[in-house]
Amino acid sequence: MPSLDDFAKAKLAALETAHLRRRLAESAREDGLWVVRGGRRMLSFSCNDYLNLTHHPAVKRAAAAAIEKYGAGAGASRLVTGNHPLFGELERRLARLKGTDAACVFGSGYLANAGIVPAIVGEGDLLLADELSHSCLWAGARLSQARVETFRHNDVAHADEVLRANRAAHRRALIVTDGVFSMDGDLAPLKELSALAQAHDAWLMSDDAHGLGVLGGGRGSAYAAGAAVDLQMGTLSKALGSYGGYVCASTAVIDLLKTRARTLIYSTALPPASAAAALAALDIVENDEKLTARPLAKAQSFTRACDLPPAASPIVPVALGDPLAALEASQILEREGFLVTPIRPPTVPEGTARLRFAFTAGHPDAEIARLAGIVRERILA
Ligand SMILES: *Cc1c(COP(=O)(O)O)cnc(C)c1O
Repeated sequence: MPSLDDFAKAKLAALETAHLRRRLAESAREDGLWVVRGGRRMLSFSCNDYLNLTHHPAVKRAAAAAIEKYGAGAGASRLVTGNHPLFGELERRLARLKGTDAACVFGSGYLANAGIVPAIVGEGDLLLADELSHSCLWAGARLSQARVETFRHNDVAHADEVLRANRAAHRRALIVTDGVFSMDGDLAPLKELSALAQAHDAWLMSDDAHGLGVLGGGRGSAYAAGAAVDLQMGTLSKALGSYGGYVCASTAVIDLLKTRARTLIYSTALPPASAAAALAALDIVENDEKLTARPLAKAQSFTRACDLPPAASPIVPVALGDPLAALEASQILEREGFLVTPIRPPTVPEGTARLRFAFTAGHPDAEIARLAGIVRERILA
């Protein structure tokens, strides 16, 4: 066996050769749009801060006030002493926005998915996932010990086929998918998947991390699709500009998660400031429909200008294939003052490295036009 250091060095060298090594870059976000990195100020198209609420005065004030009142940290897990008074209010507000009876807030979206799935399905059960589902749904799937099957991306007929072949041999079945796919920006056919779940006596769970606040007047992808979804999971960390995860469902399902989800039970509760910031952000989302419509409109102005298929969400991928091509394209944009992080495997499948543009309500139209011109002439050409 090599020494641990030699093992790490060899792994890093292999990743470097394949242009797949990643590095943390110190990035100071000045507001909801601009990032200072390496001494340069760049307009970011890589933040999921769709409504620029991370720096909204009311959101920041709410977080500061919650720290004054409840302290900087929660002190324990929610089932012990960490369940400060803001959680109940936040859960009622999330449930109301999503049109469900109840909700449960988790430490993060990743923790939510890693906790929810194993509390619902286990050994002897079937979990059917869209092949492009987010990494944390796979984490939940593995922890659950259910039999995991995948269906081709957004291919309801294929999901039907897999269920026909496997459903009968399993006790319970859960279908999981992103509502908005985080690296492709397209939407899941939630209405069709909901009908499919019913036809096969299965439950449906969607991950709405990129839908809340920006689709369906802010209510998210299930509402926009008019679909019945048993478990609507999401995050407080994207359009709401705070931190934390949540799931909305019936009262019984939420009560079960609160007593069985290991990532809720064995992890310290969210800091009070995060819950307070999310509540203040919800006030804005619920009262400003024009704001929630803006990120998608901005994305669509970009796809129009680039002759790309119309954006279905604020996320627009520009496929480049090769990791090095994605790195170089990102550098071209960086020299023009735009921060667009290249996305490489294993975040996306082999051979599909890309630039991923995330549009926010506050992106200036003139800058989007300039960005589109450069993408059209120097990256897509
Ligand atoms: C970001 C993301 C998550 C994780 O949420 P966090 O709150 O950042 O942990 C889960 N699912 C999808 C689709 C995401 O894009």
